[in-house]
Order: sequence, then C-alpha cells, then structure tokens
Amino acid sequence: MANFYTDNPNLKSHLQHPLMKKIVELKERNFADAEKYDYAPLDFEDAMDSYDKVLEVVGEICGDVIAENAEEVDHTGPRVENNRVIYAEGTKKNLEACRKAGLMGMSMPRRLGGLNFPITPYIMAADIVSRADAGFENLWGLQDCAETIYEFADEDQKERYIKRVCEGETMSMDLTEPDAGSDLQSVMLKATQKEDGSWVLNGVKRFITNGDSDIHLVLARSEEGTKDGRGLSMFIYDKRNGGVNVRRIENKMGIKGSPTCELVYKDAPAELCGSRKLGLIKYVMALMNGARLGIAAQSVGISEAAYREALEYAKDRKQFGKPIIEFPAVAEILSVMKAKLDASRALLYACARFVDIYKIYDDIAKERPLTKEEKLEAKAYSKLADAFTPLAKGMGSEFCNQNTYDCIQIHGGSGFMKDYRCERLYRDARITSIY
Ligand SMILES: Cc1cc2nc3c(=O)[nH]c(=O)nc-3n(C[C@H](O)[C@H](O)[C@H](O)COP(=O)(O)OP(=O)(O)OC[C@H]3O[C@@H](n4cnc5c(N)ncnc54)[C@H](O)[C@@H]3O)c2cc1C
Repeated sequence: MANFYTDNPNLKSHLQHPLMKKIVELKERNFADAEKYDYAPLDFEDAMDSYDKVLEVVGEICGDVIAENAEEVDHTGPRVENNRVIYAEGTKKNLEACRKAGLMGMSMPRRLGGLNFPITPYIMAADIVSRADAGFENLWGLQDCAETIYEFADEDQKERYIKRVCEGETMSMDLTEPDAGSDLQSVMLKATQKEDGSWVLNGVKRFITNGDSDIHLVLARSEEGTKDGRGLSMFIYDKRNGGVNVRRIENKMGIKGSPTCELVYKDAPAELCGSRKLGLIKYVMALMNGARLGIAAQSVGISEAAYREALEYAKDRKQFGKPIIEFPAVAEILSVMKAKLDASRALLYACARFVDIYKIYDDIAKERPLTKEEKLEAKAYSKLADAFTPLAKGMGSEFCNQNTYDCIQIHGGSGFMKDYRCERLYRDARITSIY
C-alpha cells in the first residue's frame, strides 16, 4: 500500500509555500462557491486541507494502481484496430481509477464540473503521476488542453466540452505535421469554411499524443494563400462527429503506454476556437506554455523515481563486503542526483505559483476591471512565469535525463538489463528534452 504523496514530505513543503495564501484567496474569490457547492472550501485552511486530501488519493492511486501497471503497459503498449487506438489493459485501468476519483478537469471551475484547483496542486498531481508512469502522465495530463478552451473558447463551447473533460473524456493537441515540427508556422492542415459558416479540416498530423482522444485542439491553416503563422487558427474537433482516422502509431523508445499517432483528417467537421488568425500566435503559445509546465512536472516525477531506485539499490547491493552506498564515489553520485531533483522541483513549483497568480488575475479581469495595483501585480507575475517556464522545462528535462543515466550507473551491469525499473526510466526520460 504505497502512497506516492505521503511518502514524500518535500511535496507538502512546496504546497505550504507562503504565496499559496494569496493564490487560494484569489482563486476562490473570497470563498463565494461555498454557498453553492457543499464541497467548496470555506476558508484558506479548508482549501489547503482539500488539496491535501485529493493529493493523498492521487498518491494512493499512483502507488497502488498506476505504478503497479507500468511494467505491463510498457511491454504491451497500445495498438491500432480499424483506425482506432486500443489502450493497453493497464492504461484502461489507470484511466478508470482517475475517472472514479474525480481527477479529470481538476483545475476547471466547479460550475463546469471541475475541482477549481490552482495550477500548483494540479502540477503536484502531475509530478506524482509521472513518478508512477511517465507515459500515463501524458494521457492524464492532456486535461491541460481544457485550460486553453476555458481561456479562449466561447461560453457555449466551454459548457459543451469542459464538462465532458471533467467527466473523464480525454484530449489531445494536434499541432505537429511531417513538415512542421519546431517550425509550427509551416502547418498546412487545411481548414475550409463552408457556405453555412461551418468548418471542415483536411490533411495529416503526426506525432500526436493520444491522437484518438475524444476532444482535439487542432492548429490549421484557415487563410488560403498564406504561408506563415498569421494564417493559422485553432479548432476543436469532436471525435463523435467522425472524420479523423488513426493511420498508425509510432513504435517508440520510451513512454510506450502513450499512443503517438499519425492522423488523417478527411472533411472532418470542426469548430473555430476563439478568433481567426490567432491560432498560433496567441492560443498555441498559451497551450504550449501549459504543456511545458506539464513536461517539467513529468521530468521531476521521473527524476524522483530514478533517485529512489538508485538509493534503494545502493543500500542493498554489497561489494567488497559492504553496501556500495558506503563508497564515497557512489554516495557522491546519489547526492548530486538528489540536488538535481530538489533543484528541478524547486523551479517547478516556483514557476507554478507565478503562473497561478497571473492566470487567476486574467480570469478575474473577465469578471470585473482590475485595480491599478492588481494590474501591476499581474504583469509582474506574468513576466516571472515567462522567465521560469523555459527554465523549469529545460533544466528539469536535462536533469531528469542525467538522473536516469546515473541511476543505471549505480545499478552496474544489472542496470543494463530489462529486469530493473531503471531501464524503463532511462528510456522514458529521453523524450522530455525533445518535445
Ligand atoms: C513521443 C512524442 C510525442 C509528441 N506529442 C505531440 C503532441 O501531442 N502534439 C504535437 O503537436 N506534437 C507532438 N510531438 C511532436 C514534438 O513536439 C516535435 O517532435 C518537436 O516539436 C520537434 O519537432 P521535429 O520532431 O519535427 O524536429 P525538428 O523540428 O525537425 O528538429 C530537429 C532538431 O533540430 C533542432 N532545431 C529545429 N529548429 C531549430 C532552431 N530554429 N534552432 C535550433 N535548433 C533547432 C531541434 O531542436 C531538434 O534538435 C511529439 C513528439 C514525440 C516524439
């Protein structure tokens, strides 16, 4: 009965950072929801207690279900049948456990079915899930896309799509194409507006995580004759309407439980999200900043798993008559691993708190004008989030690669064998510094 939250006191100390008081009070708008929802917090302590309880549930599911299934999922992986993705059995069980525990759409407002969690405790859940299985984090973590719908879609779209995510439907972000990877300005998937005003999508996307999801956010070229980012808009595609097939899934090195799909769009009906031409320059930039924070959390979770595996092995394995942890060279590797883990986690939560404050102010600004002080504060935190997001993602992913490398080193020859978890962690880590 492992609990990946309660067995890690570092998490609670990050959650109890002094800035959380401000974050919670802003997020809860003076706890107004308490009058409407019996599960809404009454005050700051009550809100913190509810994050703690939910994270305990996350920790339990991760320790008892997701981590237990990780090996089977890594071996079996998903498959494609009749152009649809079939998840590995363990992945289905993981998703069911998360749905039952209400862990989908966690950061969405209560009126749309969410838990109204700030980003900080939500990102902590992502850190914990990634320690259990980084591949599953990709599927579960794509609930992030609901943030983009919440920020930029109209009220009707929010009602129709976010509620479904909170009930457990999955999402994907369909950006990359064979000729448009880092250079998303080159996206060519074509969006055509019909006479009745509706849109259809035609073309190919590749490397799409969970590409057979229920609800897709799609970057497509809506302005005929354009070649750069200003001709791109963002669309919502609903799988219930049909029109998108999975041509294949990639045979990958790591995160094998997470299906990476090539998608073919054939007259796929879709809805414009937000305004035309702002797809890349505004909405995808916001979407990617959320994804970067998610990958930073994924990196920290993998680092945590690698450090724990290495520590246990070093205490257990004896050479020259004593546990190898007693050799200074091994102890030094472990202490550097721990320093990298702690540093990347500190960056992650510093960043999450900055994101929380400026995003909550952005949301409040839709309800009432911000005061001058609030505007200044929102701007300052937005600048901090801009500086910290690439740091948390960049450093976190590099450190996680280094920590899984060192974890194998500490295991010696055994680390090179498929029998130990460190081998999977090493493969799973590699993608974090690429995507
Ligand atoms: C497992 C997996 C899951 C993914 N999931 C998704 C998803 O869900 N949705 C989605 O849309 N995409 C997804 N991707 C795509 C991913 O985001 C791209 O692979 C990534 O953006 C890089 O694009 P590329 O692979 O085409 O590499 P390229 O753009 O061809 O880059 C090749 C190399 O050149 C470097 N490079 C390129 N341009 C520059 C430059 N200007 N300056 C310096 N270096 C440069 C890159 O850093 C890289 O090292 C996924 C990819 C993988 C492998």
